[in-house]
Amino acid sequence: MKHFFILVAIIMALLVPKTINARTGVNYSPSASAFSVEANNDAQQVKLRIYKDGLGGKPIKTVNMKRAQAGGTLWQATVKGDLKGKFYTFDVKYGGKFMGECAGIWATAVGVNGKRGAIVDMADTDPQGWKADKRPTIAPQDLILYEMHHRDFSIDDSGDFVHRGKFLALTEPRAISHLKALGVNAVHILPSFDYASVDETRLDEPQYNWGYDPVNYNVPEGGYSTDPYKPEVRINEFKQMVQALHKAGIKVILDVVYNHTWNIDGSNFQRTRPDYYYRKNADGSYSNGSGCGNETASEREGMRQFMIESVKYWVEEYHIDGFRFDLMGVHDVETMNAIRAAVPRDIFIYGEGWSAGSCAYSGELAMKANINKMPGIAAFSDEMRDALRGPWDSNSKAAFLGGVKGNEESIKFGIVGAIQHPGVDYSKVNYSKAPYANEPTQMIAYVSCHDDMCLVDRLKASVKGITIDELIRLDLLAQTVVMTSQGVPFLLSGEEMLRDKKGVHNSYESPDSINHLDWGNMERYPQVMEYYKGLIAMRKAHPAFHMGKADLVRRNLEFLPTENCLVAYHINGHGVPGETWGDIYVAFNAHKRARTIQVPEGTYTVVCRNIKCDQAGLTTVTTKGGKVTIPAQSALIIHN
Ligand code: CA
Repeated sequence: MKHFFILVAIIMALLVPKTINARTGVNYSPSASAFSVEANNDAQQVKLRIYKDGLGGKPIKTVNMKRAQAGGTLWQATVKGDLKGKFYTFDVKYGGKFMGECAGIWATAVGVNGKRGAIVDMADTDPQGWKADKRPTIAPQDLILYEMHHRDFSIDDSGDFVHRGKFLALTEPRAISHLKALGVNAVHILPSFDYASVDETRLDEPQYNWGYDPVNYNVPEGGYSTDPYKPEVRINEFKQMVQALHKAGIKVILDVVYNHTWNIDGSNFQRTRPDYYYRKNADGSYSNGSGCGNETASEREGMRQFMIESVKYWVEEYHIDGFRFDLMGVHDVETMNAIRAAVPRDIFIYGEGWSAGSCAYSGELAMKANINKMPGIAAFSDEMRDALRGPWDSNSKAAFLGGVKGNEESIKFGIVGAIQHPGVDYSKVNYSKAPYANEPTQMIAYVSCHDDMCLVDRLKASVKGITIDELIRLDLLAQTVVMTSQGVPFLLSGEEMLRDKKGVHNSYESPDSINHLDWGNMERYPQVMEYYKGLIAMRKAHPAFHMGKADLVRRNLEFLPTENCLVAYHINGHGVPGETWGDIYVAFNAHKRARTIQVPEGTYTVVCRNIKCDQAGLTTVTTKGGKVTIPAQSALIIHN
């Protein structure tokens, strides 16, 4: 009897229509395809058109869709026969006018330029062995993030890739061996969902864009595939990329841009549910918290569900390991927490804890200051970044690296991972006057990313008369601060080969000549890669540099007296589970001359000194009166 009631309850639950139908689009089977789309209550008519191709030609079938229930938002149609390989659009009528054809918000395959949805059997898109593909197990505190753009990474002849600028480049031994040698264990790929700004019908011409202009959120970008006209190709190639990286023990993190769409009128959101997905100002204009002309309304049930289901879909279908939320501060806290709860704990979630303008939302936004209300979600630390390289609103102002005093507390803020720590004077931290993270894994430590100047350009622009020797010293010093931070370290791809972008600070649509990695630099500046490798290997081997827990950091990390342009600290390795080193001293000297710090007298193994880093030990030092020298513009790490 009890079972009977449970059964009835389940059937009832299935029958009661949900207000939001999480995944619409097309449900393919060889005998029939079921289509569904969500529209506002006042929709008058919805036409489904079936096409032979992804672009051009006349529909081979037009169907009037039906409301699933009177007054509801869901429209449905079933088309009999095998539609595999065909394309479809939805066209919704409001106030006597059709909004225009679109693929709908839940297309999981599309034709060229994402104009039409595609009917594919997803099982056909799996590469061999895909079922056995598994996300590598790496705890958040053990992650080393590598942010890259597909085209930057592999387009230049110097890289000698077969699949230049494509997803498949990351399956090539050249790419895998480089990433493994460097030691990073997660690639964060710039927008790789279908975006607008690269015309997929002209891929023989050089076109470049970062891709922060979303069209179809649940489909890989066609410009990175070898054939954007064949819908299954980009899906298959994306999966091959994930599979190859996973085999190498490297996670794949997707940069997601739910905060705005490329445009309003042409977007799948607007064409199916006008004005539902966007925030508006009191005067009826569209709010622009993204700085891109519109901002989505994550607090609305349909948008929130869309984001949750989209993220889940990338995890399920593509085995994605984590997400970097562009302008996370445009989204509301509740949505971000709901996303966190909807995916497995090992999925790493972080984002930009800011917006690019004011948002038309009065509730709590997922800003950096609210990170402590979002357990398991991290935010980029601009405190540490700007304390190192200089403020974001100027390209030429220097900070710690340029020998400017007053940035020490902000660097210490980044060293502890933005948590509460008795050794940090928060009143002197550049932006956050209070710790925002509960745990150090809620802070991303970095000195450069795709935005703003890369490190080389920034150093050249901000440090007067900088020589190549000084440039390398300061570059390595900066990354040592990042790689020894208790936060999660993050590198912009190409920094390990001393990349530059010819001084361009916003290269979102700059040509390859600006954005490409010059692999020739690997031979020109081998000491840079060598140091990065040594640094990353040291971090990975020593839990002292990534304790993972705020309590451990508070208990075991203690700052030495701070001086201008000199930050130093002690880690009690005995107190860190798994740590083999005892007392560890770390010092960063941004002065143009050597400085000393005071440590207990004794003999120490030197693992990082004068732009060399090797955890096996470079030499030993026996202190006289406890004084240890840190050469100019470099880091020192010693232990006993
Ligand atoms: Ca595209």
